[in-house]
Amino acid sequence: MSKIFSKESSYVDDRVQAVRERIDAACARAGRDPGEVRLVAVSKNHPPEAIGAARGAGVRRFGENRVQEARSKQPLTPSDIEWHLVGHLQRNKVRHAVGIFEWIHSVDSLDLARTLNRVAAEEGLSPHVLIQVNVAGEASKFGFRPEPLREAMEEMLALDRLNIEGLMTIAPYSRDPEDSRGHFVALRALRDTLAGEFAAGLPDLSMGMTGDFETAIEEGATLVRIGTAIFGERPR
Ligand SMILES: *Cc1c(COP(=O)(O)O)cnc(C)c1O
Repeated sequence: MSKIFSKESSYVDDRVQAVRERIDAACARAGRDPGEVRLVAVSKNHPPEAIGAARGAGVRRFGENRVQEARSKQPLTPSDIEWHLVGHLQRNKVRHAVGIFEWIHSVDSLDLARTLNRVAAEEGLSPHVLIQVNVAGEASKFGFRPEPLREAMEEMLALDRLNIEGLMTIAPYSRDPEDSRGHFVALRALRDTLAGEFAAGLPDLSMGMTGDFETAIEEGATLVRIGTAIFGERPR
């Protein structure tokens, strides 16, 4: 983790404010209430001190992509944080994951959903989950393709320990946020279709990162997952 953190930390507060202003501006352009968009600060590869600084700037939701990293940071960070898992979850990490994360954005198979449901029941927990969709059909990405998701949806919705809140996607990498727009529109359309067909409340759309969160907000994001714009470049 970063050894130059003290130099970086003084910027976290300003960056959080700048991100909030950009969220508010995107909401204004889209005619949306900023209260509908929740910021998840993605703190992977950044030290606990950076999380503490962002918490001090008013951020309450933090995202990590690895269970083990979150486990090691959690005791060193404020206890009132709401943790979100944004990365792929292996089945042998599910028990640790449900113990840490109130939200899991990356449910990417029926098999994983069943395991999560069983373990959550054993642990007496009811996590909030989002179903990850590979909208663009990239071979390198996790997530359901839309048609298999339709086929799995009825069983997913019947898993009684899971609060299925909506859908999540990661747009293909591009420098131009306009390239993401069509993928965000497709995720929202899929949500609307599934919500209608299965009479399900699927209020949330987790979409948008540092490079494209304003576009995502314009297209209906309710959760934006932002790392670099808050914490700076990730130390390797
Ligand atoms: C790392 C990560 C983010 C944040 O990425 P930035 O471009 O740094 O904002 C968001 N979502 C997921 C799933 C990630 O892995």
